[in-house]
Amino acid sequence: MKNIVIFGAPGAGKGTQSDFIVEHYGLTHVSTGDLLRKEIADETELGKRIKGIMDAGQLVSDDIVIEMMDKAIAADTKGMLFDGFPRTVAQAEVLDKLLAKHGRELTCMVQLEVPKEELVRRLLERATIQGRADDNEVTINNRLNEYNSKTKPVADYYAKQGKQRVVDGLGSIEDIAARIRQAIG
Ligand code: AMP
Repeated sequence: MKNIVIFGAPGAGKGTQSDFIVEHYGLTHVSTGDLLRKEIADETELGKRIKGIMDAGQLVSDDIVIEMMDKAIAADTKGMLFDGFPRTVAQAEVLDKLLAKHGRELTCMVQLEVPKEELVRRLLERATIQGRADDNEVTINNRLNEYNSKTKPVADYYAKQGKQRVVDGLGSIEDIAARIRQAIG
């Protein structure tokens, strides 16, 4: 059973490539961003608490996403693709523990590499197509800063475990998908 992390900066193409990966390997797709946006759309207590944080492009607290992941892993039987999680080293450490609790292990982490100018271009383009509340110029900058300061160290965490697979995230969607399959094996 495969358990995979798809990793990269905002705009790197994690969501798009996730669809191909879950289809190919028969995995359950879990996106913390999607789960959090649903809380906001449903106007739950949690949703009200996190809306301002997400609109500002900041990370929500580790506790919130960890609790969500704990439930998602407990409910899964197929193997999972983690999209947008872990985003801090603390989350990465907890993910290892949660998987171990269920007799699982992370297979690998696929890191999509895209230059900053291209990330910004894609995010601004997505802003006009999808109208996501956090796709605007100020928030995009905050999200890239959060990525650089808090999330990038997660790559080293997996490199040290020998689980980091770096994939060029430029090119056609199909080419990138093929590179990812090769990296996962
Ligand atoms: P995404 O859809 O993955 O780009 O996530 C959108 C927003 O949700 C982020 O900018 C954060 O505010 C929040 N978020 C998603 N995943 C996490 C996470 N693992 N830890 C903290 N905040 C998260």
